[in-house]
Amino acid sequence: MLPKPSRERSRELPSAHDHALNLNGYPMYRRVVIILLLLIVPVTATATEAPYVVVLGIGQDGGVPQAGTKVHPGWEDESLARRVACLAIVDPETSQRWILDCTPDFPEQLHALDTIAPVSDRPGLDGIFLTHAHMGHYTGLMYLGHEVMGARGVRVYAMPRMSEYLRSNGPWDQLVRYENIALIPMTADTPVILNDRLQIEPFLVPHRQEYAEVVGFRITGPTRTILFIPDIDSWEEWAADGTRIEDVLQTVDIAYLDATFYSPDELPGRNMDGFPHPMIVHTMEKLSSLPATERAKVHFIHLNHSNPALLPDSDARRTITDSGFTVAEEMERVDL
Ligand SMILES: [Zn+2]
Ligand SMILES: [Zn+2]
Repeated sequence: MLPKPSRERSRELPSAHDHALNLNGYPMYRRVVIILLLLIVPVTATATEAPYVVVLGIGQDGGVPQAGTKVHPGWEDESLARRVACLAIVDPETSQRWILDCTPDFPEQLHALDTIAPVSDRPGLDGIFLTHAHMGHYTGLMYLGHEVMGARGVRVYAMPRMSEYLRSNGPWDQLVRYENIALIPMTADTPVILNDRLQIEPFLVPHRQEYAEVVGFRITGPTRTILFIPDIDSWEEWAADGTRIEDVLQTVDIAYLDATFYSPDELPGRNMDGFPHPMIVHTMEKLSSLPATERAKVHFIHLNHSNPALLPDSDARRTITDSGFTVAEEMERVDL
């Protein structure tokens, strides 16, 4: 069916011109008051809207269910599937949006972000911050390229080796050459100012570095600071480098921490030494003597498809909750 002629439609929807005519019926002083109210109210209403972090994925690099899994309820029921670990930062006051890591689930994650914080442009991201060069953390960049979105100059913040890796290896170098992305160098322990009330700071963490260095991020807003460490080999190794997770926790409000595996029994028949990650049971044990307020800051993220803590009614999940910790949920929000 053809759309109605525009004249008919204009009768249904009041135009800006109609409002101007309506205002003419008021005395001059009332018109001034109304105009002032129209100008002031929207500004004061949005001024109190806090920026926030929203979780767009909690899975390990392969997501849940993972490729090759024959039987998993997540294949039939989308609500039982989990996307790869990713956070977004949103400032509703300025309509700015950033994402931390660009995962293979980027299409769905961008769509989820568009649903809760819509913007008019495409992809509508003020920056993408990359932690490292493992496949779950950067390969979503491919969707910005010529074959899909043909994006223009999306700012991708990366550490020096990570930048060099993208610049000098196909297919990523094409994103740089075609200017789909603009690489912005980051320096460890040096904050990047996002706007006048938000900043983000990368810091190095020990983790396999086949292609690039590995960082976590500290996001600071007007009232809260949030930590994001999706991948780390061990808390002990980090402490040996001079940083204790217990001390870092004291300086943040929420910490999204690597929870790839629950316990060493998780992959029967496979030697778990080859998967250096802090097991959830180990992290809980390590932090067990901290006050409840400190433990409550920990939100586990980056869960492998085998992790029993993914299931809300599992013994693993109950142990985590009873011990005062939390498993991150997709679409959970924390005001900054
Ligand atoms: Zn990972
Ligand atoms: Zn990794």
